[in-house]
Amino acid sequence: MQKKEVIIVGGGVIGCAIAYYLARLNVKALVIESEEIGHGGSSRNGGGVRQSARDPRELPLAMHAIRYIWPNLSDELGVDVEYCQEGNLRLAKTEEHIKILERVIAQGISLGLDLRLIDQKEVREICPYVSDEVIAASYCPTDGHGNPMVTTLAYYKRAREMGAEFITGEMVQSILIRKGKVGGIKTNLGTYESDQVILAAGYESRAIANTVGIDIPMQRTLVEALVTDQQPYMFPQMIGTAASDFYGHQTKHGSFVFGGMTGLEPYGSEVDNPITRSITAPSICRAILGYFPAIGQSNIVRTWSGWLDVCADHVPILSKVDELPGLTLACAFSGHGYGIAPAVGQSMAELVVNGSPSLSLDAFRYDRFQPKS
Ligand SMILES: Cc1cc2nc3c(=O)[nH]c(=O)nc-3n(C[C@H](O)[C@H](O)[C@H](O)COP(=O)(O)OP(=O)(O)OC[C@H]3O[C@@H](n4cnc5c(N)ncnc54)[C@H](O)[C@@H]3O)c2cc1C
Repeated sequence: MQKKEVIIVGGGVIGCAIAYYLARLNVKALVIESEEIGHGGSSRNGGGVRQSARDPRELPLAMHAIRYIWPNLSDELGVDVEYCQEGNLRLAKTEEHIKILERVIAQGISLGLDLRLIDQKEVREICPYVSDEVIAASYCPTDGHGNPMVTTLAYYKRAREMGAEFITGEMVQSILIRKGKVGGIKTNLGTYESDQVILAAGYESRAIANTVGIDIPMQRTLVEALVTDQQPYMFPQMIGTAASDFYGHQTKHGSFVFGGMTGLEPYGSEVDNPITRSITAPSICRAILGYFPAIGQSNIVRTWSGWLDVCADHVPILSKVDELPGLTLACAFSGHGYGIAPAVGQSMAELVVNGSPSLSLDAFRYDRFQPKS
């Protein structure tokens, strides 16, 4: 079989975006996906495209994506990815909540983000449906949301049109080494040769990297989300709370998509397949109704769950591996990889092709956890 220029393991939004940006640099990647395109977190997520409340290391990626890529992405890919840039409100009900927001706001402003605290009156002007209990919010007017499944498929479609190859239903098992460098990968069905392998397989990247003695400090956590039936138009913003008990938005079609945490997630993640439980959706709903009583009229159509690949320090690993030339890691997105996917895809393609991405990825090196001598 012909040697591939680059092999990408994983056909989520990250793998598909990297394949697209590689194609723009005239490099034709082969993407190998064990299930179907977008099977993982990329089809299960809440669609948040936000800069607010980002780790300062990740914020430049989010700001770049929102300033330069997201607004034109639908035109660029030829598919409406339902990007809506109408701001993010993070709601507060107590003085403690306001203190949390003030910390987040100070951090964002120090890095040049347009983010401010607004009072109850202004919150209600922007979003009249919030409960009277909401006393303030952080407001980032340039944040928003998109449709994650459509975005993933749009990157896939455009990358294919530009020459990338995709194989689905084939599971990568290990990385092959030739003369101290990457030689390709082995799957359940055969082997593929390449000098460049990018691991973008979410949590499973860890087991694959383990086959060449590289470990990635991440854990798997199961989180849940839900969608309601179609509702009259209420608000376009992405919503979160200082208490982090739920987040969500109203889609273009009128349904609300919400996700949330009960606090029990780390104790319910010892399962093989992503499942939903009876505890989580009611918990998310209680939180939502405490902020948006009017949404109580809607019906839940579906709940689902998905895995997060949570890194030890909650930011991704976007890095070449020094010990094994040709191996590159793009994983551990820790629950917020969708919004930054365009900037990550672009930067990873540049990293692999010319070794120097236009946005610095130094903060995301794989060896940041190694003991310093
Ligand atoms: C419920 C939920 C809500 C979320 N909300 C948001 C949000 O609002 N905003 C945001 O930015 N992010 C959010 N996220 C996180 C976001 O979905 C992820 O960070 C993002 O999708 C990561 O993309 P990925 O391509 O790295 O991973 P994935 O989409 O998981 O893709 C990895 C792919 O690798 C494949 N794979 C695994 N093992 C192998 C193998 N051995 N061989 C070949 N292929 C393999 C998998 O099948 C999968 O398709 C949320 C996640 C969840 C679950």
